[in-house]
Amino acid sequence: MKYISTRGNAPKLAFDDVLLTGLARDGGLYLPETWPQFSAADLAKMKDLSYVDLAVKVMLPFVEEVVSRDELTKIVTDTYGAFDTDDVAPLVKLGDNEYVLELFHGPTLAFKDYALQFLGRMFDHVLTKRGSKLTIVGATSGDTGSAAIEACRDRDNIEIFILHPKGKVSEVQRRQMSTVLSDNVHNIALGGNFDDCQNTVKALFADETFRDEVNLSAVNSINWARIMAQVVYYFWSALRAGAPDTSVAYAVPTGNFGNVFAGYVAKQMGLPISQFVIGSNANDILIRFIETGRMESKDVYETTSPSMDIQISSNFERFMFELLDRDSSALNDAMQEFKETGHFAVTDLFMERLKEVMDGERFDDAGTAKLIGDVYKETGYLLDTHSAIGVGAARARRWDKAVPMVILATAHPAKFPDAVKAASGVHPELPAHLSDLYEREEKYSELPGSFEITKAYIEKTLKERGKL
Ligand SMILES: *Cc1c(COP(=O)(O)O)cnc(C)c1O
Repeated sequence: MKYISTRGNAPKLAFDDVLLTGLARDGGLYLPETWPQFSAADLAKMKDLSYVDLAVKVMLPFVEEVVSRDELTKIVTDTYGAFDTDDVAPLVKLGDNEYVLELFHGPTLAFKDYALQFLGRMFDHVLTKRGSKLTIVGATSGDTGSAAIEACRDRDNIEIFILHPKGKVSEVQRRQMSTVLSDNVHNIALGGNFDDCQNTVKALFADETFRDEVNLSAVNSINWARIMAQVVYYFWSALRAGAPDTSVAYAVPTGNFGNVFAGYVAKQMGLPISQFVIGSNANDILIRFIETGRMESKDVYETTSPSMDIQISSNFERFMFELLDRDSSALNDAMQEFKETGHFAVTDLFMERLKEVMDGERFDDAGTAKLIGDVYKETGYLLDTHSAIGVGAARARRWDKAVPMVILATAHPAKFPDAVKAASGVHPELPAHLSDLYEREEKYSELPGSFEITKAYIEKTLKERGKL
């Protein structure tokens, strides 16, 4: 299996190179040349597999050219063995034919652990084999950073720099990053918002001299290996909700579009998914796109669901590429227009195809709080702010009540204690391994939101660490 760039102008790469490269040299995102296929009969046979065995089955076709089945099994066993439940991703019944898929049983309590714990180990495996080293630079709106840091801490062949928007992540989120005191972990609080952080990271990647000099790599959801690891829990939950005998619908609280795109990949691989409902907060660029066929970024608002305070959904490019039947030149035109003008429009045909599989709904902070309160009163189940938007979107936009609806619960409520308490009256407790988080020592640097200063800071730090 080789990988191609959405922009059609970068070399085809094998899995290990895609893993280490992140963004393609033409500015595009890597995708496999073809989608491995699972028939209904294959799916029926996968129903009784453990999470680990299922993960190996689903991911092997994407990696087997460079990672053996035994190696993959070892990495996956090690990854999900560290989660706090044997089930890894429990599917909990919430209402009538309505389920919550709990994706917060990893070390940092958000779904990003499912991909990043895997990614860190995969990096280690490939780097050790090659005898090389990496510098990881990532931007976070909150949850990616801590999950990436947990995944890469204390690994000799990795230095990790995580940029978060200063003052714009929750205290729990900041502390989950800044209290990791490992020498290879470097937290930066950057002036500006998440998109400014992401733009700084993109500019670092675009600086080819710097990129080569420090052996730059990404952990943002532009990294294909993350999407790949997330595909697994769609298979896992659909099989538990009744597939392949029934199709399944998904509701996904959405920011960068990585999580929902992983679901689309599962569908392309043969999983019977009939609908995706995306949920947004006030940062509703994708909902506006569904409504108007026009992608237009606006200012970013701060909300009680900060992990979705994003106006540019990087992974949407992969989805567009698929809906455009992989026409790189049409995609390039749209991306060029977006870069120059801040908006682009698509054809009616494109929108028709999108609406065959996708719908969406937005909730402001008051709407989100009401959802948390109502669901808690109804069922005793405590949702976090992001997952609540998933539930609200599912209920508002469900096409067929006979089809099981699976809502992805992307974070533990204790990650957003203030908003959850205000909405429900209940203070969500942190799990035992994080109960002293507020007492731990913190370490991070503050920088103004400038590309040159960030670049100089990284170079200086790497020199001090003897890595440059
Ligand atoms: C990152 C994140 C999201 C958004 O996921 P995308 O893959 O960027 O769409 C939603 N909820 C939580 C809790 C997150 O951490």
